[in-house]
Formats: sequence, C-alpha cells, structure tokens
Amino acid sequence: MTKYRNFPMVPRVVFGQGCFEQLGEILMPKRKNSEAPFIFLVDDVFEGHEITKRIPLIFNDQIIFISADEEPKTHQVDALVSQIKNGYTELPSGIIGIGGGTLLDLAKALALMLTNPGSSSEYQGWDLVKKPAIYHVGIPTISGTGAEVSRTTVLLGPEKKLGINSDFTPFDQVVLDPDLTHGVPKEQWFYTGMDCYIHCVESLNGTFLNAFSQSYGEKALELCKEVYLDSLEAAESRDKLMMASWHGGMSIAYSQVGVAHAMSYGLSYLLGVRHGIGNCLVFQYLEEFYPEGVALFHEMKEKHQIELPKGICAGLSDQDFDTMITVALSLEPLWENALGKEWRKTITPQKLRSIYEKI
Ligand code: NAD
Ligand code: ZN
Repeated sequence: MTKYRNFPMVPRVVFGQGCFEQLGEILMPKRKNSEAPFIFLVDDVFEGHEITKRIPLIFNDQIIFISADEEPKTHQVDALVSQIKNGYTELPSGIIGIGGGTLLDLAKALALMLTNPGSSSEYQGWDLVKKPAIYHVGIPTISGTGAEVSRTTVLLGPEKKLGINSDFTPFDQVVLDPDLTHGVPKEQWFYTGMDCYIHCVESLNGTFLNAFSQSYGEKALELCKEVYLDSLEAAESRDKLMMASWHGGMSIAYSQVGVAHAMSYGLSYLLGVRHGIGNCLVFQYLEEFYPEGVALFHEMKEKHQIELPKGICAGLSDQDFDTMITVALSLEPLWENALGKEWRKTITPQKLRSIYEKI
C-alpha cells in the first residue's frame, strides 16, 4: 500500500459575499451544447425563494427541488439517475448542488452515478468508482460539514451508512457565498457548525494527526471559537464559519474523525438522527476522550441557549443498541485515529452502550 495518499482537491473555488451572481459566467464555458442541460439540485427550503430566482437557467436546464429532511439515500440517487437518463438524449453538462451537506452529497453522488453503471450502493466504500464523474459544482447554503471540500458523499444504503470515497468525488468547482447562509435557523446553525467544531477536535486529538491536518484544524478551531464564543457582527460571522467549514474539511481529509462521528453514525443508521445533531448528542458525553473540547462545547451551547433533545435512546431494545454498536464499531479507522491501534482494549460494546444510554 502506498504510504502517503495523493489527495485530490477542489480545483476551483470562488469566495465572497454575493459571488453567487457569477454562477452564470462560471458555467458558460462548461456547457457542452444546447441539448446538454445543467441540472440544479436545490434544497426545497428555497422553493419560491429569491436564491432560486437568481439561478442562471438557459436552454433546457432544470431545477429539481429536494427535501433535506432526511439524509441522502442510495435509492434516491439511483432514482435521480434514471430520471435524468430517461429525460434527456444525452448526459447533462453538469450537476450543481445548492444546499447543505445533504444536497452537496446528493449532487456529488449523482454526478458519479451518471457515468458509472449499477446502483450507488455498490460504490459505498473506498475507491470503488472506476470512471470520472460529470462536471459538478457545490454551493453550500449552511456551513459546517466540510462536504464542499471532501472526497466523500455519505449515503444511507440498504446495508450501511457509508460514503462513496473516491478521487472522482470532489467537486470541480465550489461557490462559497456566505450570504446564502443568511436564513439558517439558529438551532441548525449551531448543530451544523458544531459538526465543524467536532471535526477539529477529533482531528487535532487523533493519533493520525500530522502537520498538514494540524495546520488546517487549528485555523478552523480558532474560527469556530470566534464564531461561537465572541460577539462577531453577523456578516463577519457568516464569512468565518464558511471558511471554518472549509478548513475543518481539509483537516480531516488528511487525518480522520473520531469517537463522536463513529457513534453518531449508529444513531443515524438506527433512528435517522441527522449528522449535526447526532454528533452533538454524542459529543456532550465524551469528556473522557476529549475533556477540553467537551468543556468548550458546553460553553458554546450555553452561550447560544441550545437545548439538546433528551431521551433519544430511552425505550430502545437490546437489539437496537446492538445495531447501533455494530455500526459504530465497524468504523475502524475512526477508532484507530481516536485511540490508537490498541483501541479494542478500551472500547467494548458495554462501554458504547453506557454512552448511548445517556442520550
Ligand atoms: P442539511 O443539508 O441536512 O440541512 C439541514 C437543514 O438546514 C435542512 O432543513 C435545510 O433545509 C436547512 N437549510 C440549509 N440551508 C439553509 C438556509 N440557507 N436557510 C434556511 N435553511 C437552510 O445540513 P448539513 O448539516 O449541512 O448536512 C448534513 C448532511 O451532510 C448529512 O447527510 C451528512 O451525512 C452529510 N455530511 C457529509 C460530509 C461529507 O464529507 N460528504 C461531511 C459531513 C456531513
Ligand atoms: Zn461530520
């Protein structure tokens, strides 16, 4: 196995308040011909919204509104592939995702699956994708996940929740316009922003840490602290959280996440708990693993008067707990990053159950 990974990065990025205006001119040279549309996957929270009116549609371009109420699923990606293949005589010029991590992941997966045969569930894993995706653009409207820079698209499949990790997954272009995050509700702003904060804590405290990851992780952590603990002016806060998300994503690219993410995947798989809130629900009880990070998390939570839901795991059966524990333990690289090669000595099913029971 190669010792050092040769990591693909997003080749083009535009940043700045209002830069969404430039989308039309960015896409123009990428149009193959008038029969090959751009397909815009847009969070349905923007249906009828002014952002949608500013999408530069021409020829037979299409907007498909998608709800982010549930996390992306492999069958949903497969259905979108059929819809597009049946609706047009040729492949689209490109796919543009506009929304949070849910829409960004759907856009990445759709772009990959338009050129690769079979079901998206066959590609959940590492480096299973054989052919390059079609041109794809990510436009985040909420900051934190790092999905705009990452090499994965996380999908819930029939058997597992796992990303399609590949060199073809990252976006060809990202548009970072902090103004697009204007209307995010406070709770969601906190949960998705904490995803970024937790990426930093897990990366910076992991055994996989290296100067590459550290340099991005420290910057992202500093930005998160400014956003959630200082009293920044709103526009500055949006700018900084958007860049924190980017740097947090870059940090985990070359290291790994840890305990909160592994356990949050279990919650999400069994109960459909979404990524940001799931991470917060777990992370609050991880003082044993991340003492400083958890203390600061409580400080941020209090400052913004966020009440996390309680009793999520109350009333679950032994079998339910086992399902979550199996999903969490299957994410071996996350545990190894968090605790080192000997992680199995500390992490037992009983240990995980005792944490899940608090949630
Ligand atoms: P999301 O896309 O799930 O959206 C959360 C909520 O915010 C939704 O209700 C959405 O409609 C709303 N929203 C988004 N932008 C808004 C705006 N500007 N105004 C008002 N409402 C807005 O949120 P998320 O936390 O960004 O993404 C979570 C998803 O990201 C999960 O599916 C997770 O698996 C995935 N994820 C992917 C990666 C990756 O590297 N690919 C990393 C982390 C998480
Ligand atoms: Zn995350």
